[in-house]
Amino acid sequence: MPKKPITIARALLRWYDRAKRDLPWRRDPSPYRTLVSEFMLQQTVVATVEPYFARFTARFPDVASLAAAGDDDVTALWSGLGYYARARNLRRAAMAIMADHGGAIPSSEEALRALPGIGPYTAAAVAAIAFDARAFALDGNTMRVLARLTGERRPVDVPATRAALHARGLAQVPRRRAGDFNQAVMELGALVCTPRSPRCDVCPLSPGCRARAEGQAASLPRKRPRAERPVVRVVCACITDGARVLVVKRRAGLLAGTWSLPEAADRGARARPGVARRLAEATGARVAGVAYRGAVRHVFTHRDVTAELFRVDVTASGPPAPERRWVSFDGLGALGVSTFARKTVALGVGNVGRRDDRKSRKSRTARPYEKTQKPDTEAFRP
Ligand code: SF4
Repeated sequence: MPKKPITIARALLRWYDRAKRDLPWRRDPSPYRTLVSEFMLQQTVVATVEPYFARFTARFPDVASLAAAGDDDVTALWSGLGYYARARNLRRAAMAIMADHGGAIPSSEEALRALPGIGPYTAAAVAAIAFDARAFALDGNTMRVLARLTGERRPVDVPATRAALHARGLAQVPRRRAGDFNQAVMELGALVCTPRSPRCDVCPLSPGCRARAEGQAASLPRKRPRAERPVVRVVCACITDGARVLVVKRRAGLLAGTWSLPEAADRGARARPGVARRLAEATGARVAGVAYRGAVRHVFTHRDVTAELFRVDVTASGPPAPERRWVSFDGLGALGVSTFARKTVALGVGNVGRRDDRKSRKSRTARPYEKTQKPDTEAFRP
């Protein structure tokens, strides 16, 4: 910590008034639009969120319309954005707001935290941005700025360090313009105090910044060494009658609530065709042929998944079931389908070859994923 307490609000707000980005949720702001944007921005960068936010708020313009929507309708509009628990929790939060708050989003951090899917970060962000409450939202950006500003050398992924940084941030929140102050710290982290190349020469906080004074800006904040991602291998069956493909709804775990190809654990190369065939036969379909199509790799935040993909041609589909649907190749867009599922379908019915993509939307400058929501890692059950 610096010897003398620093005061950053004045310089920061002056910079923010000049430099802030024109973002959709800052236009025509409302508590509802703030709530939606904060859910979407968790673990996802601004550029990715913008089109999703526009579509989502056009279809569900207020709490009431979202609360009345079906789970599948909401997940479909989230399709491709990832972290699907956010979509389910946002809808559940809207339902709770209708049931317990007469449709008005509560203004206190405490009441916001009682809603589904809202943890300390989102509660503080919504309370401050939508209601100007004196709260401080500690996300990746704000944590980095504060750690550098105060020369914090302890790992920031340790709860005690985070608590200390939160307290330092909260102490800086001005009595007026608390929401703008929070957004200004976030914005500074996104545009100036960036993870790898902080632009200290143009930073409004440069005169009081301890990391800059000590030449430590680029090496802070510190984190504990990261554990390796577990590798998960599955067999996926692209079951098709030539015009349609069979998708199943994931009931739990990673990507719960989304639709994807049936899959099972990969027990080795020799067993794979049989596994794919049995996945089709289990639906009651009559199998005409099984062909290997290649592998799809998808790196989630905490899982590295490789799916060995088989096209299974069938001559007759099985009986209908609520958790199974036959959809046309073009009809996937109307369902909630993850990026991973899209990649597997594309390979199953289209190009043959190996796909090796890494998830790129997540960014160190994105909002944290709230702990009230199950992280992908814990939830994945192939
Ligand atoms: Fe970040 Fe540099 Fe500004 Fe300090 S002076 S807050 S390290 S950009």
